[in-house]
Amino acid sequence: MKAVQYREVGGAPQVVTVPEPEAGPGQVLLEVTAAGVCHSDIAVMGMPADALRFPLPLTLGHEGVGTVAALGAGVTGLTVGEQVAVYGPWGCGTCAACARGRENYCHRAAGLGIFPPGLGAPGAMAEYMVVDDPRHLVPLGGLDPVAAVPLTDAGLTPYHAIKRSLAKLVPGSTAVVIGAGGLGHVAIQLLRAMTAAQVIALDVAEEKLALAREVGAHETVLSDDRAAAAVRERTGGLGAQLVLDFVGAPPTAAAAGAMAAPEADVTIVGLGGGALPVGFGTTAYEVSVCSPYWGSRAELAEVLALARAGAVTVHTETYGIDEAPLAYERLHQGKINGRAVILP
Ligand code: NAD
Ligand code: ZN
Ligand code: ZN
Repeated sequence: MKAVQYREVGGAPQVVTVPEPEAGPGQVLLEVTAAGVCHSDIAVMGMPADALRFPLPLTLGHEGVGTVAALGAGVTGLTVGEQVAVYGPWGCGTCAACARGRENYCHRAAGLGIFPPGLGAPGAMAEYMVVDDPRHLVPLGGLDPVAAVPLTDAGLTPYHAIKRSLAKLVPGSTAVVIGAGGLGHVAIQLLRAMTAAQVIALDVAEEKLALAREVGAHETVLSDDRAAAAVRERTGGLGAQLVLDFVGAPPTAAAAGAMAAPEADVTIVGLGGGALPVGFGTTAYEVSVCSPYWGSRAELAEVLALARAGAVTVHTETYGIDEAPLAYERLHQGKINGRAVILP
């Protein structure tokens, strides 16, 4: 079968032919219908060899949906032909975090060498993929596979980040989205669906700001060194109660801190290497900074439910599996508006 692999440190992703996998005991084989292209893959492919925690080659794709093709020995509760989304942050299944469905914060995954598909385990950018356990699968429930696949990360990650700050997003509050790309354009829609907050989107590209307005941002601001002042102007001088930084570079993290209101949450999602030091006088009073990772299994079901209710529509560009390297190139160049989806 064809698969898109990252094969050597510093190399470009390649389309290769690999053996079709089989479902071992307890596992599920999926025929992949769609796989999303995330900027985190570019971050992984930019890491030096000593920072990579898993061996190469790696079949890419940590956003996946597919049709159940075969059940390994002992698997019950699923039927062949069923359409499912893959919950990606696999954990051990038994620790306290996993017991709460928060496998993204599994206490034992690192120690046991458990990796998400596409980020260590073979991923969804292939004709077939093996899912280690049926608990990692959530029924699509009639959603279109292309529109749904980005929800497994570009939807789930902002959903988790927003949900933890919901109590701060009362009427009259403001939420800022820095980076209106794959995750950011979904975050804007989630904020509109889940809160009464004013939503201000920041980006460096005019077409991204146009998409932000199209999907519901009340205001858009060019992301430069005047952005924090612009957000303050639009909030009566106070600043925002939630700043979601989907870039996470040094200048955006600094701007996020500068536009945060007293008691705000600054949530750094992007892997841009930035940080926001907090000490007395560096930000407004009682600002909290965190960097979350992905989301819980229950939250994925909630995001899919929101999509079924029509509250979230992911803007997608589709590519055949042979065009996957081109999709990565375009993402790297900032040319994807919304999310690129590979059809294996
Ligand atoms: P993307 O490329 O689709 O979107 C990034 C957006 O940021 C683009 O619209 C780009 O124009 C914009 N941008 C770039 N520089 C900017 C700046 N200085 N100010 C404002 N906007 C700027 O990427 P994506 O797939 O949406 O991923 C976003 C980030 O989130 C990446 O760093 C990715 O690695 C990370 N990520 C983190 C998690 C997590 O669990 N923490 C999960 C998924 C993705
Ligand atoms: Zn991702
Ligand atoms: Zn666990």
